[in-house]
Amino acid sequence: MADLSGKTVLVTAAGQGIGRASALAFAQAGARVYATDINAAALGALRADRLSTAILDVLDETAVTALVERIGPVDILFNCAGVVHGGTILEMRDADLDVAIDLNVRAMIRTIRAVLPGMLERRDGAIVNMASVASSVKGVPNRFVYGLTKAAVIGLTKAVAADYVGHNIRCNAICPGTVESPSLQDRMRAQGDFEQARAAFIARQPIGRLGTPEEIADLAVHLAGATYTTGQAVVIDGGWTI
Ligand code: NAD
Repeated sequence: MADLSGKTVLVTAAGQGIGRASALAFAQAGARVYATDINAAALGALRADRLSTAILDVLDETAVTALVERIGPVDILFNCAGVVHGGTILEMRDADLDVAIDLNVRAMIRTIRAVLPGMLERRDGAIVNMASVASSVKGVPNRFVYGLTKAAVIGLTKAVAADYVGHNIRCNAICPGTVESPSLQDRMRAQGDFEQARAAFIARQPIGRLGTPEEIADLAVHLAGATYTTGQAVVIDGGWTI
């Protein structure tokens, strides 16, 4: 695991799932971690050395700017917040598209804009954005809005990487397959037969099981410390896209 001692990390959506596991993994790697989410109760249960929690709604630009001003220079930003909408292009509600663009895409633009000037001043920074294999990597049935917005995450990641590669600022994206998280469990429950839904999700992962939040967290820490890697959309999907 990368040694991130002395680094300050800001993690969004750290209340549960991949964000939570990543906040803990960054702390384990020696970093000073600000774990943020809109869910105060979930943050309350999150404890580790060098880890502080803060309520942050990434839809609120003023709140994002205020938090970054309060915590000071951020060396590593992990943009993990995101939402999954089901449905095809014909089933899509325009309101869902607006929500997904705001949370899955614009929120990353807000946080990057807030931390980037400080990174440029110090000529040092790592940004890790949460995409998905359901994106420009792979068309996944019934995930029109989700795939569209996660493809945009890969696009924005590469654009930021290209603009700031000469300033020692790296920007990479993570593209997971199916990961056992609270919201995935909600989606499985919503299908009626939980066990059948779970078996169907497992069946599309050739490795024979779902990913764990900790496995994705390992990759987030790795990319934050991978000093010769930028502009990449790194797939971690149990063989879904072999
Ligand atoms: P999750 O969906 O279970 O939890 C999401 C967290 O985001 C919650 O703690 C919630 O309170 C927080 N959140 C929601 N709106 C917010 C806002 N406006 N501001 C700040 N926080 C907010 O977690 P997960 O399933 O691990 O997903 C995390 C990320 O990983 C998402 O971007 C998701 O699209 C992506 N992802 C997940 C999977 C998967 O199978 N679970 C696969 C690929 C990508």
